Amino acid sequence: MKFVLLGAPGAGKGSQAAVMADYYKIPHISTGDVFRAHLKAGTEIGVLAKSYMDKGLLVPDDVVDKIVEQRLAESDCVRGFILDGYPRTIPQAEALSTVTDLDYVVDIVVANDIVIKRISGRRMCMCGATYNTNSYNSPLCEKCGKQLYQREDDKKETVLKRLEVYEKNTAPLIEYYQEKGLLIQIDGGESVEKTFENLQKALATK
Ligand code: AMP
Repeated sequence: MKFVLLGAPGAGKGSQAAVMADYYKIPHISTGDVFRAHLKAGTEIGVLAKSYMDKGLLVPDDVVDKIVEQRLAESDCVRGFILDGYPRTIPQAEALSTVTDLDYVVDIVVANDIVIKRISGRRMCMCGATYNTNSYNSPLCEKCGKQLYQREDDKKETVLKRLEVYEKNTAPLIEYYQEKGLLIQIDGGESVEKTFENLQKALATK
């Protein structure tokens, strides 16, 4: 199955995508993760992306489009994929439509105050694990023992900018995909498990 996940920063796209990837046995493709990996490796794309990410702004469409097109051409995407954080603009959605069709676009709906609380509590590990101080107390990763850290763009000033960018550039995709008959909206305000249950129910009745 070919999924796109929509939702504000902090709506839980990454957590949901991880559960879905495991359940459907298809790859989870997060453009944010791709940029963070480039950043870590010190590539040209990483340096470019950082200048936008640190300000809470979107990396230019042509850069993201190319990365996603190349990734979707890899053999593990044949059975499907979960795109998390892409597309984020109408031009990106148009570019994606020239590369692949989609089965479902899942919009994870979460109230703004919950989103802000979740992002401010989000902590990451170098190994890829994600935690939240609202439910996890240790400063160390449960999986590998390394020190957890806060994403630079999860700090308060940047989060507000990211939410503004989401409203302006990404929220219009909800109507865009609604008109194409691909949209499913699910409540993501509770746990990851409950959100996945909501998704399963919505898919069963679509
Ligand atoms: P995320 O981890 O999805 O929140 O993405 C982190 C940051 O990476 C975003 O705030 C953007 O700066 C950049 N980014 C990720 N995906 C995209 C995209 N589809 N278009 C433009 N910028 C992106």
